[in-house]
Amino acid sequence: TSDLVMVYHRLPYEEVRERGKVRRQPHSSPNGILPTLLSFFADGTRGAWIAWSIDDGTEEPFVTHTSVDNAAYPNLICSRVALSKEDVDIFYKRFSKEAFWPMLHTFWERAEFREEHWGVFCEVNRKFAEKAAEEAAQGALVWIHDYNLWMVPAYLRERRPDLRIAFFHHTHFPSADIFNVVPWRREIVGSLLQCDYVGFHIPRQVENFVDVVRGVVPFQVQERQNCAPRFLTYGCAAGLGEMTTEIETDQRTIRLGANPVGLDIDRMKQALESRAAQKQSRLLQEELGDDSRVILSVERLDYTKGVLQKLVAYEQLLEQHPELHNDVTLVIICVPAAREIKVYRDLIADIEQAVGRINGRFAQVGWTPVRYYYRGFPLQQLVSFYQRADVMWITPLRDGLNLVAKEFVAIQGLSHRMGRLVLSEFTGAAAELHGALLTNPHDTKDLVERCYQALVMAPNEASTRMRELFDIVSYYDIRRWGEEFVANARYQSAPEPVAGA
Ligand code: UDP
Repeated sequence: TSDLVMVYHRLPYEEVRERGKVRRQPHSSPNGILPTLLSFFADGTRGAWIAWSIDDGTEEPFVTHTSVDNAAYPNLICSRVALSKEDVDIFYKRFSKEAFWPMLHTFWERAEFREEHWGVFCEVNRKFAEKAAEEAAQGALVWIHDYNLWMVPAYLRERRPDLRIAFFHHTHFPSADIFNVVPWRREIVGSLLQCDYVGFHIPRQVENFVDVVRGVVPFQVQERQNCAPRFLTYGCAAGLGEMTTEIETDQRTIRLGANPVGLDIDRMKQALESRAAQKQSRLLQEELGDDSRVILSVERLDYTKGVLQKLVAYEQLLEQHPELHNDVTLVIICVPAAREIKVYRDLIADIEQAVGRINGRFAQVGWTPVRYYYRGFPLQQLVSFYQRADVMWITPLRDGLNLVAKEFVAIQGLSHRMGRLVLSEFTGAAAELHGALLTNPHDTKDLVERCYQALVMAPNEASTRMRELFDIVSYYDIRRWGEEFVANARYQSAPEPVAGA
């Protein structure tokens, strides 16, 4: 049995199948959450990680448990939830992405809610909950991740009233007006109210959730604002998790807090110092030369990220400021999404058309106004783009947090550069990253003006802003995020920051 149980749909490692054999390797995903979650088991804590595994009948018998890495996490096992390919397809690829993803990002008209898919969603969630119930020791902490697993707390509490259940919402949580379109909102809210602690990235998302709760179960709930928000300590941002709200129902007290995910700065530093990064920097230098200033845009291909809006604004920027011709280059890195989803196919075509139009209109011999990479780069190469950028232009129409903004700041800070960050006010990171120029991606004029302001910003101002940004990103890092979340979940206070750290 386990004292700490992670319920995360993905495994903490990647499985590669080669000639009928399964080989395990660390995830290639660069965001630092998985190593941080694993680090809770490095001290020998007895633990279980609940993740799916596709039961396609090829493994005989189905493997229910695997070890993770005996040397690093001696008492951690992976407990596998057997799902059919079809279940995964409906639960993850279709329902989560077609119904909840658009709604959560406020694109509720795009959301497709199908009753038969909800049935599969609940069934899959029940399987995760059953596994967690089997693995957890008396009074253990069970930490559930993200909206794919919204219904796990309900099923888990039914079987195990003794457990401490915590939930982290990795995605944006919208206002009540939007969330209330979900046909199963009562079930979802009812499930989350079975937790002891629910964490979001920023206070606004907590407020939105409280508003939804007020509307859905108005008579059962008493709400209490717990501590005053504390945003600044030691000259940089303190954990937003200092602020918690409590909701009291007739069954329990549920604590809510804001814990924005941070970065592993050492990992960023290692990536920056790697050979791959140095090679990539040389290649970029050859391609872009010394003179051209780089405006950088990095995102997954998704309509929530606002790439088209940015391209329209860039075209206007070049129209209004001919002095920028031959001087700036917009570099867009767009990580491919599943082509089988029609909205993504249409978006790819629209972006390609806009890039073609701008380059066709403005290009000169020796100058390509937009360089568009429809591919993902490993972190070691990505960091050299962050390092080379003069302006980072991040324009999501809605984003739960946006790690790219923090990665840019980390790399610029580590390289003692003073790149300018232009950040959409509709990202969670905007609540944290004082020092960024905030922009409204729905307003083309504002997009143009903020980008221009960044390009002409005086070095003094840029350097002050970058110092403030780097302080924030290096203080509230991934380790502090994890510690603070667990402290909140256990209703303890987070470890005291060391003055001057
Ligand atoms: N990323 C990457 N290679 C790329 C572009 C992006 O590995 O070519 C990573 C990036 O380092 C970041 C993540 O993708 O950690 C994107 O996270 P973010 O929070 O910005 O957006 P999300 O995709 O989670 O909505």
